[in-house]
This record gives sequence, structure tokens and C-alpha cells, in this order.
Amino acid sequence: MNVYDSERISEGLRPLGYETTPSLEAADLIIANTCAIREKAQQKVFSFLGRVSRLKRERPGLIVGVGGCVAQQEGEKLLERVPHLDLVFGTHAVGRLPQMIGQIESKRCRMVDVDMCERIDEPLMPCENEACRPDSGKATGFVTIMQGCDNYCTFCVVPYVRGREMSRRPEDIIREIKALVRSGVREVTLLGQNVNSYGKKEGLCSFSDLLHRVDEIPELLRIRFTTSHPKDLSNDLMDAFRDVDKLCRHIHLPVQSGSDRILRRMNRKYSQKGYLEKVERLRAVCPDIAISSDMIAGFPRETRADFKETLDLMKTVEYDSLFAFKYSDRPNAAAARFPDKIPEDEKLERLQSLLELQAHYTAKKNRAMIGSTERVLVEGLSRKSESIGERHLTSDIWHQWTGRTSTNKIVNFVQGDDSNPILAGQIIPVRIDRALAHSLRGKPLRGEGREAMGNG
Ligand code: SF4
Repeated sequence: MNVYDSERISEGLRPLGYETTPSLEAADLIIANTCAIREKAQQKVFSFLGRVSRLKRERPGLIVGVGGCVAQQEGEKLLERVPHLDLVFGTHAVGRLPQMIGQIESKRCRMVDVDMCERIDEPLMPCENEACRPDSGKATGFVTIMQGCDNYCTFCVVPYVRGREMSRRPEDIIREIKALVRSGVREVTLLGQNVNSYGKKEGLCSFSDLLHRVDEIPELLRIRFTTSHPKDLSNDLMDAFRDVDKLCRHIHLPVQSGSDRILRRMNRKYSQKGYLEKVERLRAVCPDIAISSDMIAGFPRETRADFKETLDLMKTVEYDSLFAFKYSDRPNAAAARFPDKIPEDEKLERLQSLLELQAHYTAKKNRAMIGSTERVLVEGLSRKSESIGERHLTSDIWHQWTGRTSTNKIVNFVQGDDSNPILAGQIIPVRIDRALAHSLRGKPLRGEGREAMGNG
């Protein structure tokens, strides 16, 4: 979601004459788009602003702004704490950013805007037509379908910094996706804190209906979405993995804990049993679906027995991948006031156990793919290739491409001697020959193999 917001920020500032630069030193305007979900992410903001202070001293005309969740949370206090900061803008103020920058440029004033909107019809995109998409040529893109959250999980800061849940109208979403497709995007990820409750409050269509409508957009090849709250995962949505052709076979279904006692304290509103039943039904509908999750280690009052239940749940589900974190208090979130916090070293030890167990399952699943042929949507040259640059134009690694399977596995591959060129946005068949810790390597099939698999 922050990547999407950053794109909106750069698009919104383009009409003022700004474009992105590769280095901080070359910038006339520096914006830190921030995340408050964990304490560590928040600390990074302040160390970043510390580094920027030297630039501001050297060039007083430089404009420095902070946006996103830390800005929303701290507001005016940020300006007081960081003297070289010109602007603080919250999660609902992205659309107003160009006017604020215009004012700062002309009046050299400092500004704060952390107002929350009542409605989502303030345009999420300053402009949704083709010419306004600077990411033209990208194979994948994000589209926010809703913002905010009403769930108030006790560990989470999101409802306080992103506001109440609001869904966009399906026609606006479709229009934005069509604009992305015109600019070359072939895979969209629909974003929301809990896409499963899309449209319910506003009486719009259901999320599965929206998926069916997006499925009809010509030239779009793939659809992904994130995130799904398990309590709202409906049978309809699970069936979409069978019925919506372009929907990728991957779901991110955050469980957070395997203990019912802890799930209740987290206010998650599902039980371990209910969660496992949904996983079972998903796999019945779509047998090779990949499932990923989020897990918190060391939630207040989590006993070793609770934690063992989490490890047991992981052994039952065998996730494809996992985002695991140590619990940290977040401002306003109810759990910050809970007693019986778990000591840091114990949290760290539990986190390590989660990561080790997951590494085992990720490796097992990746190894099982060796020898298979996967349809990979090519995203572009891999970072390794880009960073090596022209000095090694003839080496294999220069031609290393990267893409993803429908099940969201990263596949890196080298252009073979096939005369068919590889282009970002194509789906091509790749024979997997190596499994690494976080990715796969393979060889693209030659012409006949490609034709046999089609490009849809
Ligand atoms: S569902 Fe819970 S964890 Fe997810 S954003 Fe909402 S409050 Fe946070």
C-alpha cells in the first residue's frame, strides 16, 4: 500500500515539474513516505531524517516532507521534533500534496495536514488517464480498492492512522485498471486492509463480484489481491480461485497466532479450528493454491504452550511463505496497555523458531518444483542484471530476467538461444531447475514449448 501511495505522490507532483532522481543529493524535494506498523519501521524514519539534515544545511532551498502513517500519527509533533522539516502530511492528504508543495515553494512556510476525509470520493489518483501513468512499461501495478480498517485488532495501529474502512466504487476501480493496462501493465494487485469486506458498508458489489468484473478486462493477464482477514473469507471468494480465470493461485491469509486464547486477546474473531477449516476448503477448491501468512511472536501473555500451538498450526498448514515479527507496542493500539509483556530475548527466540520452521517448509516447497514447467509473468531484468550494467553486457547474468509464477514464487531465468525475444508483461513457460532459499531458477522453454502453453 505504501508503494502505491508513493506512486501517487510522484504522479501528483509531476505536473509541478518534479521527477524522481536516483540520488538524494540531486533532489530539490525529499519525501519520506512512512510506515508505523512496527516500532523498527518508525525508528528508521528518524534516522533517515537525520541524514537529510546535512543536505538541508547545505541547500536551504531543499524541501523536506514526511507523509504516511508516522506523519498521521505524530502530526504537528514531527515539525517540533525535526527542525529542518517543511511538511507533514497524513494518509488522507496525498491528493492535497501538490497544492501544499506549491504553497511551500512560493511562501517558504511549514505545513501540517493530517485531516481525515469522511468519504473516499476524494480522487485517489490525481488523474487516471493513460498519459498520467509514469509507470508505463511496468508489467505489474497496484490499485487500492479500499482504505482504512474497522477491525481494531489489539496489536494494530492501522485503524488509527488510516482511518475507518471505506471502499471505492467498482467503476472507478475498473477505470483505473484499464488505464494501467493501456500503459503496459498485465498484472494488478488489488489492495485493501481487508479486501474480504469490500463494499459491504457502502452496499457496493461483493469482492468476488468485483473480481469477476476485473477478470473481463481485455489484455489484463493476472489478478492478485491482498490482504484477506480470515474471519471475512467467504465461500464465494474461495470459489473465485476456481471460477475467475485470471485470479492467481495465491492467498495471503494472516493468522497471527495458533492459540485461541491469544487470538481472542488479539480481537481476531476466529478460532484456530475455523481458520484451518478455511484453509482446507481453499485447498479443496484450488488444490495447488499457495498460502502465505503473518505471525506475531511474543504477544503479551503468550505462554510457551500458546506458542507451541502456533508452531503446530504452521506444521498443519505448511505455508509457502511467512512474514513473522516480534510483537512491539504501537501507540493507541489496545495491546500497548496489556500487562505481562514478554521479555525481548524470549520474543527473539520465538521469532527465530518461527523463521527456522518456515525456512524448512519454503525450501521443501521450492525443491518440489524442480523439474516442473511454470507459467511465469516476466516482470523485467532482475536487479542483479540492472546493477551490473553495461560492463558485462555479454555475460549470462546480464540477461537474467525475473518474474513470478501464479503461486507468487519468484523465478529468475536467463534468456536462452531461442530467437523469440523475452518481453516484460509476457507469460512464458519456464522449466525450473534450481531451488534457492527465496527464489527459483529455470530455463525458458523454446518456441514450440511456449506455443503449447499459450500466453494467456
Ligand atoms: S484487520 Fe486488524 S491487523 Fe489488519 S489492518 Fe485491520 S486492525 Fe490491522
